[in-house]
Amino acid sequence: MNKIKKILLLLGFALSVISTQADAAGWRTCSGNKITWDNDRTTMYINTYSMPIGSSWNLNFQYAMSEWNEVGGSDWKFYLGYDFDGTYNNSNGKNEVYFKYRPSESYLAVTKSRWECYWFFGTHEKYLESDVEFNTKYSWTTSTFNGWNTGSPYNFRLVALHELGHALGLLHSDGKPATMNTYYYNSGTVGHYNKIEPHGDDRYGLRILYRDSSTDRDLSVCRFRNTGGGSSTTNKVYTTSGNWVTSLSRGNSYDLYYTMENFSTQTETAKVNFYLSSNRYISTSDRYVGSTTWSMPAGAYATAKKRFTIPTNLTPGTYYIGYKADPNGSITESSESNNFVSLLHSITID
Ligand SMILES: [Zn+2]
Repeated sequence: MNKIKKILLLLGFALSVISTQADAAGWRTCSGNKITWDNDRTTMYINTYSMPIGSSWNLNFQYAMSEWNEVGGSDWKFYLGYDFDGTYNNSNGKNEVYFKYRPSESYLAVTKSRWECYWFFGTHEKYLESDVEFNTKYSWTTSTFNGWNTGSPYNFRLVALHELGHALGLLHSDGKPATMNTYYYNSGTVGHYNKIEPHGDDRYGLRILYRDSSTDRDLSVCRFRNTGGGSSTTNKVYTTSGNWVTSLSRGNSYDLYYTMENFSTQTETAKVNFYLSSNRYISTSDRYVGSTTWSMPAGAYATAKKRFTIPTNLTPGTYYIGYKADPNGSITESSESNNFVSLLHSITID
């Protein structure tokens, strides 16, 4: 008795470039209890030497913070602070955000977290600090990520969203669409407008750690899919024997890969329609080529192939193929702007 066992732990989670590794989803535990921040909040102090106030780095980091804050069904809040002294260290109890040149490291960015887990007439656990470091060995951009460029320069906001997921207490989650995938570019953006927001699996994890009584209904689509482990690719059209094609013929059948996710706090049964369009904007007024219905628990996703046939009376030319979740708006969603998307590559139909 009167023995205090105190363990202070420090571990970095790096986001790397190459993709091979599979990892477990989730969060840290201490004698079976989830390790979280007290009061479901913490403040991130942006280093103003690295990311001056008003710069695109500073603003994009704040956007990424607000994307986590806006997830329905959770009361989690990142607060904004500034760190004006130009220094940082991992034991000052302040969550610092900064650029650092790390030539011998392969990571794009790393979150260095410190937490406590000890027994004193009961288990005590909480996060104490999470610093976010971006490696300037790599080139960064704040321009839109749409899938054309999946390498350097790396998208700052995509990586910021991932590191903030670590900062609040999520671990890597591979093998499914997730911001918390181990490797860049995670699962990419969501919907036609390339929104960088947490995926269904990330929302599910956030609600496990910081659930509140609110509910949320939202479906989304993605032009990317997970291909195992932490790696992702763009969805494409294939022949029925499995070859990627961009030249298609009327009357022939093809397989289209698509991804739909359930961001809701509840199970959704949702339809997804498939269309051929003369432009990237996919809507119900485009040429309908098929439909599928999925029942998805909260946080779940569907990635599958849809077989469709090019109508014989279609005018030959260049088309975009895409899909729209809940096409008739039968579900009232917190966001309707992430329901449709076209594939990255246009197709030619003869
Ligand atoms: Zn990571």
